Amino acid sequence: MAFDHTFLVDALGEEQVSTGESAREEHSADWATDAEWVTPEPVLPDVVVYPTTTEEVAAVLAGATERDVPVTPYAAGTSLEGNPVPAHGGISMNLTRMDEVLDVRPGDFQIDVEPGVMGPTIEEVAGKHGLSFPPLPSSGDISTIGGMIANGASGMQTVKYGEVADWVLELEVVLADGSVITAGSKAVKTSSGYNLRDLLVGSEGTLGVVTRATLELAGRPRQIKGGRVIFSNLADASAAVTDVVQSGVDVAKIELIDAESARISNAYTGADLPDAPMVFLEFHADHGIDEEVAFCQSIVESHDPVAFELAPEERMDDLWEARKDLAFALATYDPEMRPLHPGDVTVPISEYGPLMEYAKSVGEEYGLMVPCFGHAGDGNIHYSVMVDPDDEEELARGEEVYAAIVERAIEVGGTATGEHGIGQGKREYMVAEHGEASVEAMRRIKRALDPTDTLNPGKIFPETADGERVRDRTATGNDLS
Ligand SMILES: Cc1cc2nc3c(=O)[nH]c(=O)nc-3n(C[C@H](O)[C@H](O)[C@H](O)COP(=O)(O)OP(=O)(O)OC[C@H]3O[C@@H](n4cnc5c(N)ncnc54)[C@H](O)[C@@H]3O)c2cc1C
Repeated sequence: MAFDHTFLVDALGEEQVSTGESAREEHSADWATDAEWVTPEPVLPDVVVYPTTTEEVAAVLAGATERDVPVTPYAAGTSLEGNPVPAHGGISMNLTRMDEVLDVRPGDFQIDVEPGVMGPTIEEVAGKHGLSFPPLPSSGDISTIGGMIANGASGMQTVKYGEVADWVLELEVVLADGSVITAGSKAVKTSSGYNLRDLLVGSEGTLGVVTRATLELAGRPRQIKGGRVIFSNLADASAAVTDVVQSGVDVAKIELIDAESARISNAYTGADLPDAPMVFLEFHADHGIDEEVAFCQSIVESHDPVAFELAPEERMDDLWEARKDLAFALATYDPEMRPLHPGDVTVPISEYGPLMEYAKSVGEEYGLMVPCFGHAGDGNIHYSVMVDPDDEEELARGEEVYAAIVERAIEVGGTATGEHGIGQGKREYMVAEHGEASVEAMRRIKRALDPTDTLNPGKIFPETADGERVRDRTATGNDLS
């Protein structure tokens, strides 16, 4: 133990503090970094704490800042870029015991939750009032609202309903020095002061710890229909998606998988589908859904589909089967092969088709399989460069392919990450995407709110001349070297 942790036991009690090996190991990886070939030498936190109240979170942060001990918030650990991993050891703060729904106000379409509440609980409580929380990510069933807010998450329905960020009204947040602030309000719009709420959303636990959130809810649509379109080639499939979005069709989900992803998915599900590019659609409306579906179909049919199937809500799962379990299908496809880091680049919709083609062509050039899929309507491409992790040369080639796709996305005005966040994995692209001056402005914000770099150090920011922590040395006089 690099520091005396009795202040944690004093603040939380023995039962909420663990220095056990298994708890520390469990908090040293996320969903994507939990493999020896990805992280040969994981950094373990020195101690794991499980606060249950805002006051306890505040006591841990105030004590840690005073003692110069890093604190990394950890929720369900489903991140894909090392976001909740304690890069510099110290305290891992597990927020999953703060999992109460505090209030529902159906008349205002609002719910107040603690950060450890998971997607299904929000849906269940909202559902009792005919409401739902539409921006849940695909991992909504296995992740917490605190993690979604901190990662700036979004999901399949973003094309119609926007991101999690768009549904957050108010946050209670504990800053590094232990002070508790409220960001935003319960009004659906505000012009009052700096927008601290949106600054905190997507800050990956580097600026504060969310201890309460007021979310907006939506009425559940009365009509739901789905569709699956099979194409003979990727160019037609991506052109159809672009055309549908540009035509303003009111579509709630529009997902594309390429032929390689279809092959992997068919092998996993045993579905009797061709190994061909497919587009999956879902429509939500309170009235007139058939007109919207017909409008969409007329656009899609101008792009030579091989088959266009429609289904009512009760048959949707069958239609969408090939898309639903793709992440798991990829992970288990070939015992020799593993998907390298999960890519989630996002570009303006007009660049969607060309980027998809580029990803495939770089893969071919390097002799590697690059299955692509994703929330196509948002211009989002998930891609997995498949590599043999025991083959160092292939791993290096895979990294080049992965990087080339991210770089191209940034070049055409897109982003390195549409939903997973920067974490540790995407830090090297921050300057290319934002420019050095913008990254330095972000560092200044970080230093202003957390001058000792207590919260989740080693994330978001590329390495600096000071080392990986962006602390303001004049504030503490400390030197990490
Ligand atoms: C199969 C799969 C599918 C996925 N699909 C999607 C998708 O469709 N869209 C998407 O956006 N993401 C997706 N993800 C990524 C991930 O699930 C999301 O980012 C999710 O929101 C993370 O939530 P979590 O509870 O697991 O948080 P964690 O991974 O534990 O933490 C996430 C980040 O939030 C910080 N944090 C956690 N709690 C708090 C808090 N209370 N206050 C401040 N900071 C906090 C952590 O320090 C960390 O930086 C997917 C992941 C998997 C494994």
